[in-house]
Amino acid sequence: MNDRPESDATSDNQEGYRVLARKYRPAVLSDLIGQDALIRTLTNAFQSGRLAHAYLLTGVRGIGKTTTARIIARALNCTGPDGKTDAPVAEPCGVCDNCRAIADDRHVDVLEMDAASRTGVDDIREIIDSVRYLPSTGRYKVYIIDEVHMLSTNAFNALLKTLEEPPEHVKFVFATTEARKIPVTVLSRCQRFDLRRVDADLLAKHFGAIADRENARVEAGALALIGRAADGSVRDGLSLLDQAIGDAGDGTVTETQVRDMLGLADRARIFDLFEAVLGGHVANALDLLTEQYGAGADPVIVLQDLLELTHWLTRVKVTPAAADDPSLPEAERVRGRAMAEKLPIAELSRSWQLLLKGLKEVQTAPAPLQAAEMVLVRLAHAADLPSPADLVRNLQGQGAQPASSPPPRPAPAGGGPAARAEALARDIDPAPQVETQPAPRASRTVMPESFEAAVRLFDERREAILCAHLKHDVHLVRYEIGRIELRPEPNAPTDLSARVAACLSEWTDQRWVVTVSNEPGEPTLAQQADAEQARQMEEARADPLVKDIMAAFPGAEIKTVRLRSDPPTTESPNPQSGPEQES
Ligand SMILES: [Zn+2]
Repeated sequence: MNDRPESDATSDNQEGYRVLARKYRPAVLSDLIGQDALIRTLTNAFQSGRLAHAYLLTGVRGIGKTTTARIIARALNCTGPDGKTDAPVAEPCGVCDNCRAIADDRHVDVLEMDAASRTGVDDIREIIDSVRYLPSTGRYKVYIIDEVHMLSTNAFNALLKTLEEPPEHVKFVFATTEARKIPVTVLSRCQRFDLRRVDADLLAKHFGAIADRENARVEAGALALIGRAADGSVRDGLSLLDQAIGDAGDGTVTETQVRDMLGLADRARIFDLFEAVLGGHVANALDLLTEQYGAGADPVIVLQDLLELTHWLTRVKVTPAAADDPSLPEAERVRGRAMAEKLPIAELSRSWQLLLKGLKEVQTAPAPLQAAEMVLVRLAHAADLPSPADLVRNLQGQGAQPASSPPPRPAPAGGGPAARAEALARDIDPAPQVETQPAPRASRTVMPESFEAAVRLFDERREAILCAHLKHDVHLVRYEIGRIELRPEPNAPTDLSARVAACLSEWTDQRWVVTVSNEPGEPTLAQQADAEQARQMEEARADPLVKDIMAAFPGAEIKTVRLRSDPPTTESPNPQSGPEQES
């Protein structure tokens, strides 16, 4: 903040206490925190005199849209401290009659309207009628319409006529939280600015500077907490700072005090809780929760803190430097790093999903503490379970369980914790099914009409190992183009389905789904081939010619049978067809 005299300071009752949000309300563009792009563009526009007829300010609630709108109105109408400035300025003086009247919301040429309460066409007509009159004391008539997206269609249409041909002395400033609800015909006539949520660190710094100006002592940890709780809004954060300074009386605002004020659970306790839960220590976890609840913690906040911790640990896991955040106490950094190292990403992301789901339940539950307890119980049991990926791997290893039906667990004894936890695991990760998207290919392969044809493709594509597994280690349960159900033998690789699906999808330009089934299915292709060979052998033995040959060469035996239609194979250089014999 700068030390420029603020109009608010001159117009407010000097003796009464003024809330910080009002006292430090930005008076010029450069006072706006974290809105650099907006400041730059508007400053340039005002300095060069290229002014739009309508501005649209968008952003979440409390971000400073109406404050910015008033700054624009002042910049348009400021006449300077000596009253002699005759054009809009980027930095309104704050002391001229126009600046002061606008700050007090009593300038006759600056009209503020809340579209949320006045949505009708008549309300807009009032504005439109007044547009043709020249401003009385200002340079421009400025119409500030807040929550402009709330206007009715008719109201928008009426407004549009004015926007299409606005008189020179008229400016509109629209503010909205939902720009997408504004007709494009209106949007296209506005210069748009998106106000950004202010970053928590920047807010903490800003609040620190204001605390200094107020001669208030506020711990850095307390500022960081307020910065985070403000959720991007300078105004909300200043209200919190106000409250914290008020609570502290003449003392220092401490981190603990702000934590209590915000109803935040102690962070170390959140670490304890998270550790207990993920360690599967349910009783301990519930005790910790009850303790925090007793100390005034809101169960919703506890879950939000757990979520935040999960997110942070995941970030530390992915980017270890995230643990170096200086706004965190050293103890937390050390503990966080250690926890992140121990926890696999899969477990962190499972916790995230369970907590997110649980948070919604707790928010709507008639008894939030009970709901939060149930969430922790679920989370603790989920922590015992193998990950869904492990489950599938185990099942495929056994080779006899359907991957497309609920993963079985030993004796879930009707709704015990294990069964519930399983149900949860299923919630999180639907039954594994191997699906792959085809990669675009220049040429396609003929669609295999049968399993044999599909396996032949693997041979043709020189996928010898996959081909061998498909021939020897799987039983076909069902086959249609795009979908194969198999029962693998225990020695089949666990990723066989995935690899087969991927290959077929790639070769045929069609998505293939390969699932593991527990139905017995057909004999393997190798078994079928053996059986066929055996049958041919029988036939061959019964052949009169063969009988004669066998009789002529005692001790001879039939090793293999090839049909005349079969192409010669490398196994037998002898091109002669018919039953072959060797002595
Ligand atoms: Zn001024």
